[in-house]
Amino acid sequence: MLFRSYAKYFSTNATVSDLYQSVLGITTDLGAVGKDDYTGNGVAKVSADNLPEFAHCWDTDEITKAPTCTETGIRLRESFRYNIRIEEVIPATSHHWNAGTIVQYPSYVATGQKVYHCIICNETKTVTIPKLSPLPLKLAYKLSSKTYTGKPISFPLNVPNGCTVIYRNNTNVGKASVTIIGHEKYIGTNVFYFNIVPRKTKITTSSNKKSKKLAIKYAKIKETSKYQIFFSTNSKFTKNKKTVNTSKTSYTLSHCKKGKTYYVKVRSYKVVQGKKHYSAYSVVKKIKIRK
Ligand SMILES: [Zn+2]
Repeated sequence: MLFRSYAKYFSTNATVSDLYQSVLGITTDLGAVGKDDYTGNGVAKVSADNLPEFAHCWDTDEITKAPTCTETGIRLRESFRYNIRIEEVIPATSHHWNAGTIVQYPSYVATGQKVYHCIICNETKTVTIPKLSPLPLKLAYKLSSKTYTGKPISFPLNVPNGCTVIYRNNTNVGKASVTIIGHEKYIGTNVFYFNIVPRKTKITTSSNKKSKKLAIKYAKIKETSKYQIFFSTNSKFTKNKKTVNTSKTSYTLSHCKKGKTYYVKVRSYKVVQGKKHYSAYSVVKKIKIRK
């Protein structure tokens, strides 16, 4: 331990030229670019590669303090002959994290957590896993028209879990809607429309009691007061067509041709916000004009 009393003491920031000057008496600036790992600010890091002249003469070359994940270590080199003592700082190794374990899986509404362990020191770190990205709600329903029942009308829609389903105007005749609002996995709102039409009527009377007249009566439909009557002389309703719009539940067609058979059918309808919503047709009645 004698050297301690007169050792020259170098830090790892000593330049190579410092060493040369103090040990060998060489005054040339060796701390220049290309001579060692000179950094340009007059300081060169000392490493074994920079000290080939001294490599053979270390009396001590040992790690006196091993680096840990977070703390630096020390490599001590001593030359008694040249009175050199270098304490080289060994960088901290930094943690070596394992692959990590998910302790909380993320959902569409909450973040998750993953815990890593250092395989060297067993230090742990917790990393937040971002929430899952929701998908746009994209439903595709084709909703057919429904007949008025007096009660709210809905469909057996297969919506994703948790979605909110809201029906509007789904009791009375007219345009109804169903709104589906996304939840968690699905984001956004989809709206679908369907029509509610009046019930169909039924022809209760169809007769030819007066000459060339065809009289009909049909059942009143509570949810509307509009009816459309179709007359024709063939069952396809293409010949001698006549269409009548009325609010009454009976009608007499005049000027019928004697000997012809007439076909008649009726449907109800209701005008809601300018749009006509038609019921299905009644059963067709067939009347021969005998008078
Ligand atoms: Zn560690």
